[in-house]
Amino acid sequence: MDSYTEHALNHIRYLSQVIGGRGSCTPKVREAGEYVSAELRKAGVPKVGFENFMGSPSTYLPFTMAFFAAAVGSLVVLIVGNRDYLVISAILNLLGAWAMLAETDFAFHWGRLVLKKVPTQNVVGIIPPGGPVKRSAVLFAHLDTHRTPIFYSSTAWQNLFGFLVTATFLSMVAGFILFGVGALTGWTWMHWFGLLLLPIQGFTLYMMGTADNTPHNPGANDDASGVGALIALAQRLKAEPLANTEVVLLFTDCEETASYGIQSFLNNHLAELGPEAVYVTLDEVALGIIKYLNADGLIIKHPTHPKALELARKVSKALPDIKTIETVGLAYTDALPATMRGRIALTLCTVPEDASASSGYWHQMGDTIDHIDPQTLENVQRFTWELLQEIDRSNPAGG
Ligand SMILES: [Zn+2]
Repeated sequence: MDSYTEHALNHIRYLSQVIGGRGSCTPKVREAGEYVSAELRKAGVPKVGFENFMGSPSTYLPFTMAFFAAAVGSLVVLIVGNRDYLVISAILNLLGAWAMLAETDFAFHWGRLVLKKVPTQNVVGIIPPGGPVKRSAVLFAHLDTHRTPIFYSSTAWQNLFGFLVTATFLSMVAGFILFGVGALTGWTWMHWFGLLLLPIQGFTLYMMGTADNTPHNPGANDDASGVGALIALAQRLKAEPLANTEVVLLFTDCEETASYGIQSFLNNHLAELGPEAVYVTLDEVALGIIKYLNADGLIIKHPTHPKALELARKVSKALPDIKTIETVGLAYTDALPATMRGRIALTLCTVPEDASASSGYWHQMGDTIDHIDPQTLENVQRFTWELLQEIDRSNPAGG
């Protein structure tokens, strides 16, 4: 194991064991941010600071609102199957579908009106290059950890839940169409479709509505691994600075609750960093095979910027002894808001060797340091280092 991997492991240990679960917007995530900023200063990073923003402690509340609206609509129309209620139910199902789609795509919707935003913070450290700055690379990882609802507790549950989420979205779209058609045509018998839609919507509503009562997981892999790797990277960059690429190390809060941290960062810095800046997030980087995404998002899949993919493919080719896979992401990552704003953004993560058999302790209390694989972590650090070199080599002229 090289010394940088050893350093990264120490940070993972501290974050996941000493601090433990780091719920979005909680004192624990603040403590993690303070630890990271102290470590960056220790590593000699010249500019380290906090950036405040308003985040959300819950990822489930907006979805609960969406499914509640739809389920109430489907229930009411089932009981009172007249034309008026078909109209109301169609609207409620539409409201549910809208809220769900918008929430997964970081857009505003009515369900967010009940969300209580609270102040929290990102940590930012900037490492200047040896020569003049021609470009910036923003490397980021998230400080917060997810809750541990039952639907993440095993591979079977995760698969079932993935299916349920899709089914519920489709059920709301179907509810809008079916009840809408019933209302328009006067075919009031169509209210019986409620029998089909209600169980799906009701079950998912129950799952979402109770998820916020579960504890936050220790998050060794997700994402103390990314945080640890970046702190170790800061140490290496101080020893071996890049030629013309300024490296911004960003540690976000609220990745787990709709990426509020990275969005705040982008709101503040997107313009000044310019269109050629490269954004790379390290998320879950210590368990299995390296994976980079060619599209990202929960429902709408946004394609990764071609320049970001080109970089990842080049690096993958340059390091033939490290196995990598390129694939579409399952849920969103912190890179998605940058991708959606047309930026060169990449997600680096890892997946267990046999992803169909292992849940990789994702959003489980078992996401602890003893399930971390140092070799994977070392591979990711090599990959990231090579990626930075490639960015530095391919800098646009001038600047
Ligand atoms: Zn994560």
